[in-house]
Amino acid sequence: MSRGLKRQNPAYKIVKNHPMNPSTHFFGGETWNLPKCKVCLASMHQIVTLDVTKFSEQNFDKKISELPLFSCLNCSLFWENQYFKLDFINQSASTIKQDQEDFEQQEEEDRILNPLPYISIELEEAHEKDNQIDDETINRLFFEFGTAYVGRVFGEPVIAQEPLQDCCLRCGGKFQFIAQITGDSDMEEMFQEDIDFFFGETMLYFSLCRRCDLLMVEPQSI
Ligand SMILES: [Zn+2]
Ligand SMILES: [Zn+2]
Repeated sequence: MSRGLKRQNPAYKIVKNHPMNPSTHFFGGETWNLPKCKVCLASMHQIVTLDVTKFSEQNFDKKISELPLFSCLNCSLFWENQYFKLDFINQSASTIKQDQEDFEQQEEEDRILNPLPYISIELEEAHEKDNQIDDETINRLFFEFGTAYVGRVFGEPVIAQEPLQDCCLRCGGKFQFIAQITGDSDMEEMFQEDIDFFFGETMLYFSLCRRCDLLMVEPQSI
């Protein structure tokens, strides 16, 4: 990636916010009206919510302030692609398509709390060395996801084993990569909170069609 491109679309790591530092991005919480999961019939987990007004380089439409990244994490739903229509005015989302046909639910004792606890986060610009694709970097990134940070926002997707779906199923236009998020059984340390946020060895990739306000959630195993 050229230096010019990087400045236009830098990647950020999602980290816990310093208590003294005001931030309008957050993990967890419940500020959007999200659709019910067709498998376990519960509301989706609002995982990370971005204040896109902070990213002038992304040129988001003025109607958009919060961009929520969500999925149900307690069942088989997120093992296949999901597509949602976002209503930025009313802060609500509706389901367009969920590809999952297998209905499997997490054991009661392994379920992730819903809503997730609200935790203030900040986005730290990724270093040039985090955008490389040599084996050593990839191995390090595998380790750091879920332990040093919970995901990455903007820039280019990293460590994906398969190419991400890049065309919107409604208009055929190109998706914009928004974020990739994973959990870990050892996240208490990073967030310094009593939090359970492990949903298997899975990375969720979030992409947006800006023409249709369509959010795609695409899983890949890691
Ligand atoms: Zn579910
Ligand atoms: Zn579209």
